[in-house]
Amino acid sequence: MSATLTHDLIVTQARALKLPGLARTFDALARQARDAHWPHEDYLHEVLTAEQASRHESVIRHRLRDARFPEVKTLDTFDFAAADGVSATQIHTLARGEWVTQPENLIFAGPIGTGKTHLAIALGLEATKQKRRVLFVRAADLVRELREARDARELSRLHRRLLTLDVLIVDELGFVPFDRPGGELLFNLLTDRYERRATVVTTNLAFAEWVTVFAGDEKLTTALLDRLAHHATVITTKGKSYRMRKRRAPAGD
Ligand code: ADP
Ligand code: MG
Repeated sequence: MSATLTHDLIVTQARALKLPGLARTFDALARQARDAHWPHEDYLHEVLTAEQASRHESVIRHRLRDARFPEVKTLDTFDFAAADGVSATQIHTLARGEWVTQPENLIFAGPIGTGKTHLAIALGLEATKQKRRVLFVRAADLVRELREARDARELSRLHRRLLTLDVLIVDELGFVPFDRPGGELLFNLLTDRYERRATVVTTNLAFAEWVTVFAGDEKLTTALLDRLAHHATVITTKGKSYRMRKRRAPAGD
């Protein structure tokens, strides 16, 4: 068989067998193998390693896309020195992801612009790197989706779908208050995840103020906080908005 024909056959086979990493690398590796007189087994091993790496990256790429982060925020770009109330050690420990498998919840509470969403995304991103299924959603959008699903009689299906997520990040709880049915829908979802899957909440509200979001329903709010905070790490960010401070800081500061 001619080398070109073999090459084309391998490409076709790799495509049929869904081996994109192999397809990309086998040629260059074969040249390397010939030049360095590798045993055949070594060549096979190298090609399979390339395929494994390619699959690993592909899963992570999909996880990242499915997470629907509004923007990419990383721990690298987080300035811990400028973040009041946030311990770098604690965040880096969380980045290892044990809270996802436990599962434990994370609550970021604090004023606007203090890095709550940044940290929630960054930790969510770390979870996707560990092949976890993550979804980022604003609280108001989540409640709207739950409402639409209920109206279409598809609420249990949506619950099931959301339960496949290892991490649900509910951003900006408290920006928009819910009516009673909306609050109940969110309550039921979070109850569903309770002790089964990890949830992250960011909020500008102190716990005492949560009741205002849930249409003044004390009982529901207490029950919700009870579940959410039971196995939870609460991180309270403090101080002035990071951007405002940066703007005010003199050049070179
Ligand atoms: P919050 O969700 O608390 O309102 P964000 O996380 O959206 O605040 O932060 C607002 C902006 O400031 C974002 O662009 C974020 O990346 C940036 N930011 C906030 N705190 C920090 C920090 N300590 N280091 C780097 N960037 C920060
Ligand atoms: Mg935010």
